[in-house]
Amino acid sequence: VDASRAKILIVDDDETERALAGAGFADDGLEVFEATNGSDALRVFQEQQPQIVMLDVVMPGIDGYATCAELRRRAASADVLILVATSLDDTESIELAYRAGATDFIAKPIHFGILRHRVQALLRAQRERAVVQQKIAHMAFHDELTGLPNRAFLKEMLPYVVEQARRRERVGAVLSIDLDGFKRVNDTLGHAAGDTLLREVATRLEGCLRGSDCVTRGDLAGSPADAIARFGGDEFVVVLSDLASTDDAALVATRIVRVLTKPFEMVLAEVDGVRLGEQELHVNCSIGIAPFPSSEDDSDRLLSNADAAMYDAKKSGGGKFQYYCADMSRKATEALELETNLRRALERGEFELHYQPKVRCSTGVVEGVEALLRWRRPGVGLVSPLDFIPLAEKTGLIVPIGAWVIRAACAQAKAWALEGFADLSVAVNISTRQFRNRELLDLIRSSLSDAGIAGSRLEVEITEGSLMEDAKHAASVLNELRALGVKVAIDDFGTGYSSLSYLRLLPVDTIKVDRSFVRDVTVNQDSAAITAAILAMSHSLRLESVAEGVETQEQVEFLMRHGCPVVQGFLFSKPLPAAELVAWLRARDVEPESASAAVTPIRRLPGIPRPTVTTGE
Ligand code: C2E
Ligand code: MG
Ligand code: MG
Repeated sequence: VDASRAKILIVDDDETERALAGAGFADDGLEVFEATNGSDALRVFQEQQPQIVMLDVVMPGIDGYATCAELRRRAASADVLILVATSLDDTESIELAYRAGATDFIAKPIHFGILRHRVQALLRAQRERAVVQQKIAHMAFHDELTGLPNRAFLKEMLPYVVEQARRRERVGAVLSIDLDGFKRVNDTLGHAAGDTLLREVATRLEGCLRGSDCVTRGDLAGSPADAIARFGGDEFVVVLSDLASTDDAALVATRIVRVLTKPFEMVLAEVDGVRLGEQELHVNCSIGIAPFPSSEDDSDRLLSNADAAMYDAKKSGGGKFQYYCADMSRKATEALELETNLRRALERGEFELHYQPKVRCSTGVVEGVEALLRWRRPGVGLVSPLDFIPLAEKTGLIVPIGAWVIRAACAQAKAWALEGFADLSVAVNISTRQFRNRELLDLIRSSLSDAGIAGSRLEVEITEGSLMEDAKHAASVLNELRALGVKVAIDDFGTGYSSLSYLRLLPVDTIKVDRSFVRDVTVNQDSAAITAAILAMSHSLRLESVAEGVETQEQVEFLMRHGCPVVQGFLFSKPLPAAELVAWLRARDVEPESASAAVTPIRRLPGIPRPTVTTGE
């Protein structure tokens, strides 16, 4: 109780005044100290560190103003409340008091009843401020989601840990940990599930470092223990501060991989009355290890080295750890260069769209094409979207790039209409981040009207994740799109966690069966069964299906046998620049449609195109 009692220092040369004020404050539970002049006040202040000081102005020796100014100079924080009491009830002395740093001003003769309330209110406000400040300080150094320290904390702490390791001739390591399957979880199960997973990961990681016998934790006398921090997203960083050898970091990394690859049991929320049930999630992690001290132990450098090693581990399949080596920073530099160039690509007009036809099996007619983005990167050539879309997503660049795609596709549809292909519809891919963007609908509306085409000429391909993330938002966007006449396709269907019965509740038109299933329909029983099931369910829900990535005649036959109405793939054409697509369409038109139309276009093609992913010529 005593520790929480506020201390007040009353500075007055008049003993009666001191006694009167002191008695009242003591009744209110304050601990009262007294001083008779300025220098006495400074001494008592130093000893007692009171929260509040009441100062008389007219005193022998240094007066109240000077005492006040000196107190302010000494007080480490501006938190001390200083009340200046003076009988000189004029604006000039008030001015002087404030200029000396007073919190407030009390006119003499003092009305003690009012003063006591005023002091209580000031102390209350001071306490509240302290709580808020503490909270802000905590927030500034902690990740709110997991309660772990954050990047800012680590940046403060790391130089100190490295320095200490050097002094004690010990070693340590920075571990950068990234969850391999996390984006998929976030995209398909939504952010709430992603958050739950991150919290669980944090708990498991903490468990890994505590009670461990291989990780020596720093002693309690000031040396920080092994610390773990979240860097935002799905990246965690562990600092092992006191190892016997850098090889020991591998033991910890092995344990972390083992602990994180155990399945996570997730209870999924209900979405609009549909229970999504429980899900057992398997995530993998990749770990990069940067030992210290080393020749490059500036802490930013250590962190980016650990990151580079982590990316390397991830690239070689995930579920492993990797020590940093110098070659990796070259790759990191390349990645940075990619980002810088990607930022400029839009304004420099380096993007182009290629179009891949979708063929209706029953008639052989090409009713639509899919617009696929390409980046003509100077000095490199045509870059596949697989190589830059993930980065564009991560940096948010996908929003302006995606806007360009929509506008360009609409303009192209108009151009084709003028060339005689008035019914050809164009599908554009919309990433999750773009779908989340509140301006998407306005963008689509204005793109349609600027190009002067009907909504029915445009189709959007979205992923299951876009729908799962925020069901309400998704439903309202899809309803608006339907009102505009824009068709909606679910891309890469079967790779996420969503179910067809959930899609039934949403205004979706088309399901695109993912290429990974189509690829194996003739060689793998599971792929065949999954594809057949998706086609059957899609049919019963009156959804259109499109099979992606069709490369062989046998695949077409399987798909047709199972009622797939539309096919798309290299068997018919790889994605083509707009002009070449027109030439391709014209060449098909020369002969009349035959009954077994799906086969027809193949005969007319000069051989079956190579089944390799195209990044252009
Ligand atoms: P996606 O939307 O599933 O597009 C189909 C991908 O399969 C395309 O790859 C296409 O070239 C490829 N493909 C088509 N037929 C065959 C085939 O018979 N065999 C094989 N092996 N591949 C085939 P691409 O053009 O590299 O695009 C890859 C992904 O990048 C797309 O997958 C899409 O998710 C994304 N993407 C492309 N353009 C855009 C865009 O403008 N915006 C967004 N957000 N994503 C895009
Ligand atoms: Mg697509
Ligand atoms: Mg696809």
